[in-house]
Amino acid sequence: MIVQLKEEITDLQKDKLINEISQIGYKITEVKTQLGDYLIGIGKNDFDIRKIGQQEGIKDIHIVSDEYKLVSKKWKVKPTSIDLGDGIFIKDGDMAIMAGPCSIESEDQIVKIINHLKATGITMMRGGVFKPRSSPYAFRGLGIDGLKLWYGLAKEAGIKIVTEVMQVSQIEEMYPYVDVYQVGARNTQNFNLLDELGKVDKAVMIKRGISGTIEELLQSAEYVFSGGNEKLILCERGIRTYERASRNTLDLNAVPILKAKSHLPVIVDPSHGIGIREYVPQMALAGVMAGADGIIYETHEIPEKAYSDGQQTLDFAQSTLLADWIRKTFAMRKSFTLI
Ligand code: PEP
Ligand code: MN
Repeated sequence: MIVQLKEEITDLQKDKLINEISQIGYKITEVKTQLGDYLIGIGKNDFDIRKIGQQEGIKDIHIVSDEYKLVSKKWKVKPTSIDLGDGIFIKDGDMAIMAGPCSIESEDQIVKIINHLKATGITMMRGGVFKPRSSPYAFRGLGIDGLKLWYGLAKEAGIKIVTEVMQVSQIEEMYPYVDVYQVGARNTQNFNLLDELGKVDKAVMIKRGISGTIEELLQSAEYVFSGGNEKLILCERGIRTYERASRNTLDLNAVPILKAKSHLPVIVDPSHGIGIREYVPQMALAGVMAGADGIIYETHEIPEKAYSDGQQTLDFAQSTLLADWIRKTFAMRKSFTLI
């Protein structure tokens, strides 16, 4: 159960309400986000909400039978729109394009990529400064200094920054320089990190865990929302299966399913999803047709020389073509309605 509280509810009214709902058999958690106050009731779902719906201080009340509650579409039919400022949105009915290198490498590289994005009309740049790498000897990112350097150049160009946060202690130092905090596939169930991102008033994009189910991704998003932050984006980036012919198995089934289950925007990452440069464009377009609200992909001036993930990174010519195809495919998707 989700009870949306009125802003002006008094402590007395709230205590009375909590008491009453608890007595029916619900375990109540109080949630305060940047946008509203809620009571989340965990318990039976066959309760007639009219019994308490007339109480003072209640804005609305909903029965949500899903394990996750606040990210469910069952109570919030209106899709969540993420406003990054300067007219840049990530939202249903739109096609966000986020592109950039796997890793931020140097000032020269940042400038080249920003110039490419500007020429291609892309306003969101992805890139890692804290890199989760399978080997401790691999390049692990330029760290906070790299982010500061990137921020200066991106801000001047009107480009928004999407970058991974790996641990709680990085949240605050990154804060002034980030537009979207990315939670990587290896951290999807780092619940301490998710709790802390709940306290931040910036967008958070959560990638699906390497072996994570759709339900687990939604539960991870629920952590951030119930921690206070409603600015959430979900990202399908492929899962680990028995198949070794591709880096991961991009689960495009997840796109319509997530869109049906949740009001949050859904992004597809075909670069990590398949891991093979030649096949990234078609998987990106398949993601658009599956109903994604955006695509995130890796691009670099010379992919072969990229410090990480070069094998799945597009060069600028390929990236320009892909951005164009994404927009055309999206226009086509909008021109018809699937049953
Ligand atoms: C990345 O975006 O470069 C990355 C490390 O992604 P993931 O967490 O999906 O592996
Ligand atoms: Mn990468």
